[in-house]
Amino acid sequence: MSYVTDYEAKEKICEYGRRVYNRGLVDGNGGNITYKVGDNEVWVTPTMESKGYLNPDMLVKLDLDGNMLSKSEYRSSSEVKMHLGVLKANNDIQCVVHAHPTYATALAVVGEDVPSDLLPEGLGYFGECIPVAPFAMPGTYEVPESVVPFCKGRGHAALLGNHGALTWGRTMKEAYFAMEVLENYCQIFILTKYVIGHHTEIPAEKLAKMKEMMNIR
Ligand SMILES: [Zn+2]
Repeated sequence: MSYVTDYEAKEKICEYGRRVYNRGLVDGNGGNITYKVGDNEVWVTPTMESKGYLNPDMLVKLDLDGNMLSKSEYRSSSEVKMHLGVLKANNDIQCVVHAHPTYATALAVVGEDVPSDLLPEGLGYFGECIPVAPFAMPGTYEVPESVVPFCKGRGHAALLGNHGALTWGRTMKEAYFAMEVLENYCQIFILTKYVIGHHTEIPAEKLAKMKEMMNIR
Protein backbone atom coordinates (compact mmCIF):
# COMPACT_ATOMS: atom_id res chain seq x y z
CA MET A 1 0.00 0.00 0.00
CA SER A 2 1.47 3.38 -0.94
CA TYR A 3 0.72 6.61 0.88
CA VAL A 4 1.16 10.32 0.27
CA THR A 5 3.60 12.31 2.42
CA ASP A 6 2.58 14.18 5.59
CA TYR A 7 3.14 17.45 3.71
CA GLU A 8 0.90 16.49 0.81
CA ALA A 9 -1.86 15.12 3.07
CA LYS A 10 -1.94 18.30 5.17
CA GLU A 11 -1.97 20.57 2.10
CA LYS A 12 -4.79 18.54 0.54
CA ILE A 13 -6.90 18.57 3.73
CA CYS A 14 -6.64 22.38 3.91
CA GLU A 15 -7.37 22.81 0.19
CA TYR A 16 -10.38 20.51 0.23
CA GLY A 17 -11.58 21.99 3.53
CA ARG A 18 -11.86 25.34 1.73
CA ARG A 19 -13.75 23.67 -1.12
CA VAL A 20 -16.21 22.01 1.29
CA TYR A 21 -16.75 25.32 3.09
CA ASN A 22 -16.92 27.56 0.02
CA ARG A 23 -19.45 25.28 -1.64
CA GLY A 24 -21.69 25.46 1.42
CA LEU A 25 -21.43 21.75 2.24
CA VAL A 26 -20.79 22.57 5.92
CA ASP A 27 -21.98 25.23 8.33
CA GLY A 28 -20.18 26.76 11.32
CA ASN A 29 -17.46 24.41 12.50
CA GLY A 30 -19.27 21.40 11.00
CA GLY A 31 -17.67 18.55 9.11
CA ASN A 32 -14.27 16.90 9.23
CA ILE A 33 -11.72 15.50 6.81
CA THR A 34 -9.15 12.74 7.28
CA TYR A 35 -6.19 11.49 5.23
CA LYS A 36 -4.44 8.19 6.00
CA VAL A 37 -0.67 8.46 5.47
CA GLY A 38 0.57 5.14 6.88
CA ASP A 39 -0.73 1.77 8.04
CA ASN A 40 -1.58 3.34 11.42
CA GLU A 41 -1.27 7.11 10.86
CA VAL A 42 -4.01 9.56 9.94
CA TRP A 43 -4.12 13.37 9.66
CA VAL A 44 -7.44 14.85 10.84
CA THR A 45 -9.04 18.28 11.04
CA PRO A 46 -9.25 19.97 14.49
CA THR A 47 -12.47 20.24 16.47
CA MET A 48 -14.42 23.52 16.73
CA GLU A 49 -12.75 25.14 13.71
CA SER A 50 -14.26 26.11 10.34
CA LYS A 51 -13.09 24.05 7.39
CA GLY A 52 -12.82 27.32 5.46
CA TYR A 53 -9.60 28.65 6.98
CA LEU A 54 -7.50 25.68 8.06
CA ASN A 55 -3.73 25.79 7.84
CA PRO A 56 -1.45 22.74 8.04
CA ASP A 57 -0.32 23.57 11.60
CA MET A 58 -3.90 23.16 12.86
CA LEU A 59 -4.14 19.51 11.82
CA VAL A 60 -3.75 16.62 14.24
CA LYS A 61 -2.12 13.25 13.61
CA LEU A 62 -3.73 10.18 15.19
CA ASP A 63 -3.30 6.43 15.06
CA LEU A 64 -6.29 4.35 13.96
CA ASP A 65 -7.39 3.97 17.60
CA GLY A 66 -7.55 7.75 18.01
CA ASN A 67 -4.35 8.24 20.05
CA MET A 68 -2.52 11.50 19.30
CA LEU A 69 0.77 11.10 17.44
CA SER A 70 1.56 14.79 16.86
CA LYS A 71 2.20 17.55 19.39
CA SER A 72 -0.53 20.13 18.86
CA GLU A 73 -2.57 22.64 20.82
CA TYR A 74 -5.54 21.52 18.71
CA ARG A 75 -7.71 18.49 19.42
CA SER A 76 -9.54 16.19 17.02
CA SER A 77 -13.33 15.98 17.01
CA SER A 78 -15.21 13.08 18.60
CA GLU A 79 -16.73 12.62 15.12
CA VAL A 80 -13.37 11.37 13.91
CA LYS A 81 -14.28 7.92 15.29
CA MET A 82 -16.41 7.23 12.23
CA HIS A 83 -13.53 8.20 9.91
CA LEU A 84 -11.17 5.87 11.77
CA GLY A 85 -13.79 3.10 11.68
CA VAL A 86 -14.08 3.39 7.91
CA LEU A 87 -10.29 3.55 7.41
CA LYS A 88 -9.84 0.47 9.61
CA ALA A 89 -12.58 -1.48 7.84
CA ASN A 90 -11.41 -0.94 4.26
CA ASN A 91 -7.73 -0.65 3.36
CA ASP A 92 -8.57 0.72 -0.10
CA ILE A 93 -9.87 3.92 1.51
CA GLN A 94 -7.36 6.63 2.44
CA CYS A 95 -9.58 9.73 2.57
CA VAL A 96 -12.87 10.40 4.32
CA VAL A 97 -15.01 13.54 4.16
CA HIS A 98 -17.88 14.30 6.56
CA ALA A 99 -20.21 17.24 5.93
CA HIS A 100 -23.75 18.46 6.57
CA PRO A 101 -24.94 19.39 3.04
CA THR A 102 -28.52 20.69 3.03
CA TYR A 103 -30.23 18.30 0.60
CA ALA A 104 -28.29 15.18 1.58
CA THR A 105 -28.95 15.93 5.24
CA ALA A 106 -32.65 16.47 4.53
CA LEU A 107 -32.76 12.93 3.11
CA ALA A 108 -30.75 11.66 6.10
CA VAL A 109 -33.58 13.07 8.23
CA VAL A 110 -36.22 11.40 6.01
CA GLY A 111 -34.29 8.21 6.72
CA GLU A 112 -34.98 6.08 3.64
CA ASP A 113 -32.30 4.70 1.29
CA VAL A 114 -32.12 6.83 -1.86
CA PRO A 115 -32.20 5.06 -5.26
CA SER A 116 -28.95 5.56 -7.20
CA ASP A 117 -30.31 4.96 -10.70
CA LEU A 118 -31.85 8.34 -11.58
CA LEU A 119 -28.60 9.50 -13.22
CA PRO A 120 -25.57 7.57 -14.52
CA GLU A 121 -23.22 9.29 -12.04
CA GLY A 122 -25.46 8.06 -9.21
CA LEU A 123 -24.61 4.49 -10.16
CA GLY A 124 -20.94 5.34 -10.59
CA TYR A 125 -20.51 6.99 -7.21
CA PHE A 126 -23.06 5.21 -5.03
CA GLY A 127 -23.44 1.67 -6.41
CA GLU A 128 -26.74 -0.02 -5.62
CA CYS A 129 -28.21 2.85 -3.57
CA ILE A 130 -27.32 5.65 -1.17
CA PRO A 131 -27.81 3.95 2.20
CA VAL A 132 -28.89 5.68 5.40
CA ALA A 133 -26.92 4.60 8.48
CA PRO A 134 -29.18 4.44 11.55
CA PHE A 135 -29.02 7.41 13.93
CA ALA A 136 -26.17 7.06 16.42
CA MET A 137 -25.41 9.00 19.61
CA PRO A 138 -22.92 11.74 18.61
CA GLY A 139 -19.38 11.17 19.85
CA THR A 140 -19.90 7.51 20.78
CA TYR A 141 -18.74 4.29 19.13
CA GLU A 142 -22.34 3.83 17.94
CA VAL A 143 -21.42 6.23 15.12
CA PRO A 144 -18.69 4.11 13.47
CA GLU A 145 -20.71 0.95 14.12
CA SER A 146 -23.69 2.41 12.26
CA VAL A 147 -21.77 3.48 9.15
CA VAL A 148 -18.89 0.99 8.76
CA PRO A 149 -21.06 -1.75 7.19
CA PHE A 150 -21.62 0.54 4.17
CA CYS A 151 -17.97 1.28 3.35
CA LYS A 152 -17.07 -2.18 2.08
CA GLY A 153 -19.17 -2.20 -1.05
CA ARG A 154 -19.21 -0.44 -4.41
CA GLY A 155 -20.47 2.97 -3.21
CA HIS A 156 -18.54 5.98 -1.94
CA ALA A 157 -21.20 7.51 0.33
CA ALA A 158 -23.67 6.99 3.14
CA LEU A 159 -26.19 9.31 4.74
CA LEU A 160 -25.99 9.49 8.53
CA GLY A 161 -29.48 9.30 10.06
CA ASN A 162 -30.60 12.72 11.47
CA HIS A 163 -27.04 14.00 11.10
CA GLY A 164 -25.34 14.48 7.70
CA ALA A 165 -23.28 12.65 5.10
CA LEU A 166 -20.04 10.68 4.86
CA THR A 167 -18.04 9.99 1.68
CA TRP A 168 -14.74 8.21 1.10
CA GLY A 169 -12.21 7.30 -1.54
CA ARG A 170 -8.68 6.23 -2.42
CA THR A 171 -7.75 9.89 -2.90
CA MET A 172 -8.97 13.19 -1.52
CA LYS A 173 -10.30 14.11 -4.93
CA GLU A 174 -12.38 10.94 -5.08
CA ALA A 175 -13.80 11.39 -1.56
CA TYR A 176 -14.55 15.07 -2.14
CA PHE A 177 -16.11 14.57 -5.57
CA ALA A 178 -18.40 11.94 -4.00
CA MET A 179 -19.63 14.60 -1.54
CA GLU A 180 -20.23 17.19 -4.29
CA VAL A 181 -22.02 14.65 -6.49
CA LEU A 182 -24.01 13.36 -3.49
CA GLU A 183 -25.37 16.81 -2.67
CA ASN A 184 -26.24 17.57 -6.30
CA TYR A 185 -27.85 14.15 -6.71
CA CYS A 186 -29.91 14.54 -3.50
CA GLN A 187 -31.10 17.97 -4.67
CA ILE A 188 -32.30 16.48 -7.97
CA PHE A 189 -33.94 13.57 -6.15
CA ILE A 190 -35.85 15.97 -3.88
CA LEU A 191 -36.88 18.20 -6.81
CA THR A 192 -38.21 15.31 -8.92
CA LYS A 193 -39.80 13.35 -6.07
CA TYR A 194 -41.25 16.07 -3.87
CA VAL A 195 -41.43 19.31 -5.94
CA ILE A 196 -42.14 18.22 -9.54
CA GLY A 197 -43.64 14.95 -8.37
CA HIS A 198 -42.61 12.59 -11.15
CA HIS A 199 -39.58 11.40 -13.10
CA THR A 200 -38.64 9.33 -16.15
CA GLU A 201 -36.60 6.21 -15.50
CA ILE A 202 -33.51 5.28 -17.52
CA PRO A 203 -34.74 2.58 -19.97
CA ALA A 204 -34.42 -0.81 -18.25
CA GLU A 205 -32.23 -2.37 -20.94
CA LYS A 206 -29.76 0.54 -20.85
CA LEU A 207 -29.80 0.59 -17.05
CA ALA A 208 -29.01 -3.13 -16.96
CA LYS A 209 -26.12 -2.59 -19.38
CA MET A 210 -24.66 0.24 -17.29
CA LYS A 211 -24.98 -1.82 -14.09
CA GLU A 212 -23.21 -4.72 -15.77
CA MET A 213 -20.38 -2.41 -16.92
CA MET A 214 -20.06 -0.99 -13.39
CA ASN A 215 -20.37 -4.38 -11.70
CA ILE A 216 -23.50 -3.39 -9.78
CA ARG A 217 -26.14 -5.97 -8.87
ZN1 LIG B 1 -21.40 16.00 11.82
